[in-house]
Amino acid sequence: MVANRQLAVRCADVDKFYGKGGARTQALHGCSLEACMGEILMLVGPSGCGKTTLLSVIVGILDTDAGDIEVFGEHVHAMNAAQKARFRRKNVGFAFQQFNLLPTLSAVENAALPLLIAGEPRRKAMQRAGDMLSTMGMPEKLDKLPRELSGGQQQRVAFSRALVHEPRLVVCDEPTSALDGKTGEAVMQQLRKVALRADRAVIVVTHDPRIYHHADRIAQMEDGHIVQVTMPGDANHPQGIRH
Ligand code: ADP
Ligand code: MG
Repeated sequence: MVANRQLAVRCADVDKFYGKGGARTQALHGCSLEACMGEILMLVGPSGCGKTTLLSVIVGILDTDAGDIEVFGEHVHAMNAAQKARFRRKNVGFAFQQFNLLPTLSAVENAALPLLIAGEPRRKAMQRAGDMLSTMGMPEKLDKLPRELSGGQQQRVAFSRALVHEPRLVVCDEPTSALDGKTGEAVMQQLRKVALRADRAVIVVTHDPRIYHHADRIAQMEDGHIVQVTMPGDANHPQGIRH
């Protein structure tokens, strides 16, 4: 438990299995983890250790098999599908590993989507999305379709879409995987600027040591377990690589 900090997310003893019968595998083993308001929490660990699964159960996209999850004091897994969807739309911005951009919408329309869904007037929504794209080093009025963009550009559109409506919880899965060091650094600085407020939290899954220095705390996962949570200055805090 983190003393004196308000919690944004609390996972307690969460188990998650995939598959059935002989193919059944356990992806999360009793994971307990807290994300505080006002922090960037990073979740790091080798490929296949369960990082994406943990993010997905936190935002309620995947069901858990055991344990409890609270987001801003709400028990997400006690909600029905419609309630979960409404809760996510209002409170959560996410960018997953597959960027999940809508293929028939332009880059700026994709980035504006959370605002358009929330009923923001189109002109204003497009303006805000354009501003967000330009802070990511992208052209403002980006009317290209996702398939006309590079991987790094698609990634920044997905990331803009996660931040554009200034949600209380931002979760990003490998947000810098397709970016060079300089662009990745700019994107992380933008994340801190836009997403961090005293009543907001950010969870970033990564195995990119170039961005570790942006973390307020780092949770390390191995084989479905949280093995340690450390802060900068702790003896066993993962050392990043800074360029
Ligand atoms: P990470 O994001 O750390 O690479 P994942 O959460 O994607 O790890 O995966 C954790 C474990 O669960 C891995 O062993 C992976 O093969 C397995 N897994 C992930 N998604 C599925 C799925 N849809 N069906 C079956 N197994 C899965
Ligand atoms: Mg993953």
